[in-house]
Amino acid sequence: MRGNGSGQPALERKKGHKLTGAGKVYLIGGGPGDPELITLKAARILSESDVVLYDRLINDKILKHCRSDAQKIFVGKTSGNHPVDQNEIHSLLVNYAREYRIISRLKGGDPMIFGRGGEEREFLRARGIECEIVPGVTAACAAAASFSLPLTHREFSSRIILMTGHRREDGASDFAGLSLKGCTAVVYMGVAELESIAANLIEAGNRRDMPAAVIENASLPNQRMITAPLEKIAASAQREKIISPALVIIGETAGLI
Ligand code: SAH
Repeated sequence: MRGNGSGQPALERKKGHKLTGAGKVYLIGGGPGDPELITLKAARILSESDVVLYDRLINDKILKHCRSDAQKIFVGKTSGNHPVDQNEIHSLLVNYAREYRIISRLKGGDPMIFGRGGEEREFLRARGIECEIVPGVTAACAAAASFSLPLTHREFSSRIILMTGHRREDGASDFAGLSLKGCTAVVYMGVAELESIAANLIEAGNRRDMPAAVIENASLPNQRMITAPLEKIAASAQREKIISPALVIIGETAGLI
């Protein structure tokens, strides 16, 4: 049955905040940055939330959907600098859910794509707290759209891999041995490791001149893209001083500009 999407009667949810009992947590995708790229459902739930915990990449304009009396709590992380660590975020979510009715956990892009949404959902579920996911436009889609790049293409790419550029805990690279034939790889958090990513891919037999693109601040007014063959992309990104947030697209589709 399609109801109001929250699993609770609308009247009860509108009673306001500080209601005791079990609250519900929404893990909401806030999209890639452009405040118009959030869903109507996300905007509606934000406008009903008692508490909103939001990340670094959330555009201030998105917070305008929040109720004026909502508690807005920044729990952002930057690479290597985690002012509120993940365990603390888990505890905050549980504590707020015990005290308030509607809690939004607002994340950049989509909450379940490199957003630790899975961990938060598990933590909440294990404590009997209801949790619903509201998807968002992930950076891969936004970055491709911003520069009119397709991610699939009947001729060049029948697969997309969304990858993180971070090394695994054991130090191994997901790029070692990876063939990108007929595939587009979209690498999140990959700029710092770009040199070794490209070296691993070339070592794996991918063409040195395979097209690659780095897209910074996709969907925002200051967005920019650089393109180069795979063997030169790391040097180009360094020369152009690409900064976070940026996404790397590697594969034939990155050449379709
Ligand atoms: N859950 C998010 C990803 C979080 S990981 C999503 O679905 O998009 C954070 C990484 O996402 C950044 O380091 C960057 O690689 C990428 N990213 C997020 N927003 C971006 C943007 N506007 N432009 C380019 N890359 C972005």
